[in-house]
Amino acid sequence: MLLFVYVVDVEVANEKQVLNRFAEDKNVRVAPDTNYYPVAKAPQNLPERPLGIGFGPCGLFAALTLAQMGFNPIVLERGKDVRRRTKDTWGLWRKKILTPESNVQFGEGGAGLFSDGKLYSQIKDPKFYGRKVMQEFVKAGAPEEILYVSKPHIGTFRLTGVVSSMREEIRRLGGEVRFETKVDDFIIHNGRIEGVVLGNGEEIRSRYVVLALGHSSRDTFRRLHERGVYVEAKPFAIGFRIEHPQSMIDQARLGKFAGHPELGAADYKLVHHARNGRAVYSFCMCPGGTVVAATSEPNKVVTNGMSQYSRNERNANAGIVVGISPEKDYPGGPLAGIALQESLEANAFILGGKDYCAPAQLVGDFLKARLSTKFGEVIPSYKPGVLLGDLTVSLPQYVIQAIQEALPEFGKQIRGFDRPDAVLTGIETRTSSPVRITRDAETFQSLNVRGLYPAGEGAGYAGGILSAGVDGIKVAEALAKAMLADLA
Ligand SMILES: Cc1cc2nc3c(=O)[nH]c(=O)nc-3n(C[C@H](O)[C@H](O)[C@H](O)COP(=O)(O)OP(=O)(O)OC[C@H]3O[C@@H](n4cnc5c(N)ncnc54)[C@H](O)[C@@H]3O)c2cc1C
Repeated sequence: MLLFVYVVDVEVANEKQVLNRFAEDKNVRVAPDTNYYPVAKAPQNLPERPLGIGFGPCGLFAALTLAQMGFNPIVLERGKDVRRRTKDTWGLWRKKILTPESNVQFGEGGAGLFSDGKLYSQIKDPKFYGRKVMQEFVKAGAPEEILYVSKPHIGTFRLTGVVSSMREEIRRLGGEVRFETKVDDFIIHNGRIEGVVLGNGEEIRSRYVVLALGHSSRDTFRRLHERGVYVEAKPFAIGFRIEHPQSMIDQARLGKFAGHPELGAADYKLVHHARNGRAVYSFCMCPGGTVVAATSEPNKVVTNGMSQYSRNERNANAGIVVGISPEKDYPGGPLAGIALQESLEANAFILGGKDYCAPAQLVGDFLKARLSTKFGEVIPSYKPGVLLGDLTVSLPQYVIQAIQEALPEFGKQIRGFDRPDAVLTGIETRTSSPVRITRDAETFQSLNVRGLYPAGEGAGYAGGILSAGVDGIKVAEALAKAMLADLA
């Protein structure tokens, strides 16, 4: 039997009477007020404008919230607008041409643009900021169902339209969004941010700066560290992408209801605690999606996954990753996690044949540590292509051992998960930021630079589109309040 569970939100004429009538029924209660109420309003003669660095989901929601409160933010984004960025990104996938400042990671919409557009998160959200994120997406053209389905997703194609219409809304409200504008340096005096220096040498002065860099802006992380901004190493995870036929996952998860139009393509979430003390888990599962080349740097290979709204590609894919930490695995200081990512990604580039193809191996061969030479039924979706070989040399041995142990265990939960012809594509290294740009829990400002608001995934305060958007709203509110307090 197929059961659908609904939570129904209704307005009634006489609320008191209705509540009295259902006083004993735990399933009937007053719905919380999920409306968003701005916390500040900028005065007419604002003496300076806040800056936002980065226009991913975090920078976008920070800028939108500030613009809605009248603070006329200026957003500086190193990449291009969605239309030109999409062309550049396809350049890598179709023609093996990487544009280092305009790709899967950099450009309007941030890393979330070419994604599955999954919009759920496990963050605590007592103020319902997540609801504002969803409502703004719907206003900008996302399907209305994201407001009520349990696992909403937009898909990459629709996200591009949503993001560009939100950018226009920011402009309409008095904000400014500048593309191809990389922040190269930071002007800091006596523990206070005073402005930024752009790649072309131009200085922009502001004492209020939102730092929403994403996890791949390694040059900027290094610059912040050089300038003395407090940065620390943080844990992240590394591994591979795995692909199976979506029909196999549907069958294993939904049984006789596989293919039911109301259920769509099935997803999964898996965890295994390996004997060597490592946790192996599935990450960013994309039902009916594709594996994509996600590097932003020349001569590196890194994978991720995305899907369209319809989720009707042949394969299901997910990261199968192992948690690693600075204490155990990269103890060399705040930037050691970045150095580890760089060396693994450079090695993957070589294993893939030095032309942006990714190294890949069949699961059966990976488990027996032998070279793969030909595909079975599963044909990997990674563009621009894969080179079959031996992935057991691509990551540290504790990671390989943990994944070799986990796959057969996952096969017990999802029949066929460890089938010999499932394909692993390497490598997944950018699961989250390798650094935290630590901020004060109350003021949201950097621990040692006033006026600097580290935010979103790159600063270590979000992991995903929804949580990055929510963090952007929180930081915008903190910045607006601080600016008004300074003016008082
Ligand atoms: C292929 C892929 C699929 C994904 N799928 C999903 C998914 O389905 N669901 C989900 O929740 N999450 C997904 N994610 C993760 C999600 O995209 C990120 O968690 C989210 O985008 C983080 O938001 P952010 O704004 O903090 O950073 P980002 O989105 O990374 O944005 C940071 C922006 O800052 C800009 N920038 C960096 N440095 C500078 C500088 N010095 N000067 C100017 N601009 C700068 C960058 O160009 C970038 O546009 C996916 C990620 C990828 C790569």
